[in-house]
Amino acid sequence: MQMLHRILSAAVLAAVPSLALADAYHELAREPHGIEAPNPEPAQPPAPPSKKITIYTAKTIVTEDPGTPTAEAVAVMDGKILGVGTLDEVKGWVTNEEVEVDRQFQDAVIVPGFIEAHMHPQITGVLWLGTYVGRFDRTSPDGTLNKGLETKAAVLERLKEAAAKMPADGNWLVAWGYQPEFYDNSPLTRADLDPISNGHPMLIENLSMHIYYANSKAFEIAGIGDDTNIVGIVKKDGKPTGEIEEITAALAFAEKLPPLNDKVVLKATWDAAKLAHRVGVTTFADLSFGTIPGGYKAYHDAAADPDFPVRTVLNPIIQVFQKPEIAAKGGLDVLNEWHKSDSDRLSFGGVKFVVDGSIQGYTGLFQWPYYYKTFANGVANISQADLTKWVGEVHKRGFQAVIHTNADEATEMALAAVTEAQRQYPQPATRDRLEHNQYASQSQLLRMKALGMATNLFTNHIYFWGDLHYSTFVGPDRAEDMDPAGSAQRLGIPFSMHSDASVTPVDPLFCMWTATSRKTMSGRVLGENERITVPQALHAVTLGAAYLIGQDDKKGSIKTGKLADFTVLDRNPLDVTSPDELRDIKVLGTVMGGKAFPATASGEKP
Ligand SMILES: [Zn+2]
Repeated sequence: MQMLHRILSAAVLAAVPSLALADAYHELAREPHGIEAPNPEPAQPPAPPSKKITIYTAKTIVTEDPGTPTAEAVAVMDGKILGVGTLDEVKGWVTNEEVEVDRQFQDAVIVPGFIEAHMHPQITGVLWLGTYVGRFDRTSPDGTLNKGLETKAAVLERLKEAAAKMPADGNWLVAWGYQPEFYDNSPLTRADLDPISNGHPMLIENLSMHIYYANSKAFEIAGIGDDTNIVGIVKKDGKPTGEIEEITAALAFAEKLPPLNDKVVLKATWDAAKLAHRVGVTTFADLSFGTIPGGYKAYHDAAADPDFPVRTVLNPIIQVFQKPEIAAKGGLDVLNEWHKSDSDRLSFGGVKFVVDGSIQGYTGLFQWPYYYKTFANGVANISQADLTKWVGEVHKRGFQAVIHTNADEATEMALAAVTEAQRQYPQPATRDRLEHNQYASQSQLLRMKALGMATNLFTNHIYFWGDLHYSTFVGPDRAEDMDPAGSAQRLGIPFSMHSDASVTPVDPLFCMWTATSRKTMSGRVLGENERITVPQALHAVTLGAAYLIGQDDKKGSIKTGKLADFTVLDRNPLDVTSPDELRDIKVLGTVMGGKAFPATASGEKP
């Protein structure tokens, strides 16, 4: 167990793209590690083509295909869908003895495999190696429920227990998920942490990963005293309080942590897959690829294991291509080389940009009148000139730009960049995407539509932070507009919903619920007219997400010729009488490439 506390490296802290400060990116660009050249060998395990046919039967199969919207059997050969229909219809394919009718899902409902188009799998896996101290209930990769902490006292109690359990070896205690916005904006301080640290240096991350907290022992090890002047060390009466606000300051601590090694990154990758598989995900996308040292090797090793239950799409952050050693090899053109390693199990997607920070971290970038009552505003992580230039470079090559914009001024900057990119290099099919895009106005949505853009909305925010959006961040009227899925649906803008895990738990059924109910933690409904229906929500987390990642030709619906990726549920989501029932639906397992992964079999490796 004590090993688990030794894992958070300088790389993670230095590299997480949600960090608020503009210079975080310059720092990242200087990082000596990061992406390794992908192995040109595809990660697909060398399975010989099989003529064996497996027919899965179910109570209902919801296909997301207009020709055959529901079915009772699906035939699978060589990892792909051979036929969909009644049992007799799909048996029409059988011309030899190599057929098995598999009735294990006979009483269940099969839907297309869920696709999580925006999370941070390896970062999530790494964080779970530390102690969770967040406000919400979270399930760890081993399936243990971690209760959300309702008071700051409860947070300190959990940290105290964790420190008490560690052997007195002076190792770091790392924790994550602290959310001062739920405790009167009260940060953790040295005065809070010192009495409970049991001799260990402590480093605790804010859930937003913009802010960190450390005890006196950690300050001592980092060599930071009252007289040290580093931007971001919060001081009161000339002494550091324990709060650390900027990357330069955070690095002084993170550099003292033991570095991540290959074994730990591989474990983090498997742990993320366990979390995702448990909730029915068959493909996930890493939206900060290039920030974990050894990240590609771990994904590649995992994908080569036939027991790894999730397909992976890697979205490299733009900073990867700006690094001198990659720039020397051709910068963005290198992505063409990397694409040659693409397989169905592991492939590269669009290039990620981060324009603003997070709304709950007060770093989201709003248009006037900015944050509610305070008129405060967030910061752009990138200048308009740089954003326009680099989005243009991505777009010109026919790659997809995947742009994080939380608040409406960030959306505006992204639209300006994509407009210019389309003017200079018209591309009808790049599917440039806005991620989170929580406050896109009606006018901005219309422009997105005209530009051929898609969006991935962060409807989970409505539940977790919606009450704070209403009371504190933006005020009542704007809060009703947040994450406008209903408008995207009406305008025909392709969209999905996502978890941004580790920020909220990966769980597409939960995303379906947040987008259809729009209920906050207190039960308030925010923006009734921005609700979507349950069928629309199911489409969004299957075929909608497949479109966003550019793989709707082979994923997202149960259709002859597509990959045999299914999610198995205990009841049909389309039969619910209220969206609230979506929260009670159980995931019984998945099928990925024709192979069944029951809910209990998400792997004990490595
Ligand atoms: Zn993200």
